[in-house]
Amino acid sequence: MVFDSRESRTGGVYPRSFPLSRATPNQKVGANRRKVQAVICPFCSHPDQRVLDSRVARDGQAIRRRRECINCERRFTTFEIYERPRLFVVKRDGTRQEFAPEKLLNSMLLACGKRPVAVERLREAVSNLEKGLYEEFDDEVPSTVIGERVMRVLREIDTVAYVRFASVYQEFESVSDFSSILKRCR
Ligand SMILES: [Zn+2]
Repeated sequence: MVFDSRESRTGGVYPRSFPLSRATPNQKVGANRRKVQAVICPFCSHPDQRVLDSRVARDGQAIRRRRECINCERRFTTFEIYERPRLFVVKRDGTRQEFAPEKLLNSMLLACGKRPVAVERLREAVSNLEKGLYEEFDDEVPSTVIGERVMRVLREIDTVAYVRFASVYQEFESVSDFSSILKRCR
């Protein structure tokens, strides 16, 4: 099933026992809400159904819909489930690594070592950064974007931490490299 990847984080419609690749009306999310709700009929491939019943399933983790094809009138069930959000950091050499907010926090904690900065403040900064990244990027984000944002945040929080981070960061690829380098330098 083809979805706008932004949409697939919050829900996708999967016809039961039906290959996902075949269930693919190329509908743009947001263009037509009603169309997005439709899958193609597993029996006759017709793109429209009546939804007979919607209910919460799997302990609130899914929505189950009972559908009736408006063409062949046969009935089938779909489950709408969410996908765990995933974001990959693309380094300058083109390799990818899954985005990990804990690593970001560790890097910032290291940069703020022996500085009068509350951990709570850094947690909040990481949380804001994370939120912004998920809102702006689908699937992948360049490591340079993350590095620049961390620097911007640190500059506001503590100048010394900012300088430490910036000097180390600019030599290396990504935030995740940064923490291992700093560990080695201590
Ligand atoms: Zn049908």
